Amino acid sequence: MPVNAQRGYMRLLRIAEHHARVVGVSTRSPWLKRIRFSAPELVESFDGHPGEWIRLWVPDSSKGGLLRQRGYTVAGFSYEGGWFDIDVVLHSPDGPASAWARAVRPGAEVVISFSRPKEHLGGTEPLTLLADTSSLPAVEAICEHLAAGSREIRVFLDAQGHDVAGLLSAPGARVVITEDPVAAFSSASPQEGGFVWAGLERSRVSALKAVLKAAGTPRSSVHAQAYWIKGRGFA
Ligand SMILES: Cc1cc2nc3c(=O)[nH]c(=O)nc-3n(C[C@H](O)[C@H](O)[C@H](O)COP(=O)(O)OP(=O)(O)OC[C@H]3O[C@@H](n4cnc5c(N)ncnc54)[C@H](O)[C@@H]3O)c2cc1C
Repeated sequence: MPVNAQRGYMRLLRIAEHHARVVGVSTRSPWLKRIRFSAPELVESFDGHPGEWIRLWVPDSSKGGLLRQRGYTVAGFSYEGGWFDIDVVLHSPDGPASAWARAVRPGAEVVISFSRPKEHLGGTEPLTLLADTSSLPAVEAICEHLAAGSREIRVFLDAQGHDVAGLLSAPGARVVITEDPVAAFSSASPQEGGFVWAGLERSRVSALKAVLKAAGTPRSSVHAQAYWIKGRGFA
């Protein structure tokens, strides 16, 4: 099997690798698959921060099975049960990860890399989340985590043509479904954004950063990460 240099680099950085076994596959929606893994040792290292994510290594059939890493949000986990869930968007065109998720069955073994992400939601100020379907699991985890508090949360979500009305669980949040979360946010007073969190396609992250810069939003009030790249594989 071809070797991915990125994996060697991550090993040099001492990013831990874990073996995980698929123990459940279910369909949240025809385009969103939930996959449950058993990986007690990995689960022990989770700290439960919402939006915590893992790097899943999947074979790229167009490159002779070269392993590619793709980010996925921990959608739920159990310390006692030693399991965790991810929700994978089945997109078109497929990439190695969405193709893997379409076909995967219980019993499959995978390697997962994990390093603790930095805290990234600010303090008590209002919170604005900009998202699409790839970051829908993160939005759900964040809203559920903050639901018990009094923090004001608004969400600008690109559902990418899907009906998310009966699917999305964002307790306590004001949700705006829009084809362009950055434009919708921009026309809804970005100066009042409080802390801004975004998980979007790469060019939208760039557009968002320009809007925030023009609005004078300090960098310390922003966490914006590219979740995928339009028209090409992530890496
Ligand atoms: C921190 C982090 C957390 C993430 N959490 C999740 C998660 O919980 N669930 C989830 O589904 N994704 C999540 N993602 C996004 C996921 O890693 C990317 O979508 C990834 O590119 C999918 O890999 P792939 O191999 O299927 O497609 P790639 O090989 O990367 O891309 C193949 C083709 O598919 C297109 N494509 C890729 N992703 C999408 C998409 N989401 N929608 C439409 N077209 C797409 C590309 O533009 C390209 O044309 C996360 C990303 C990061 C960085």
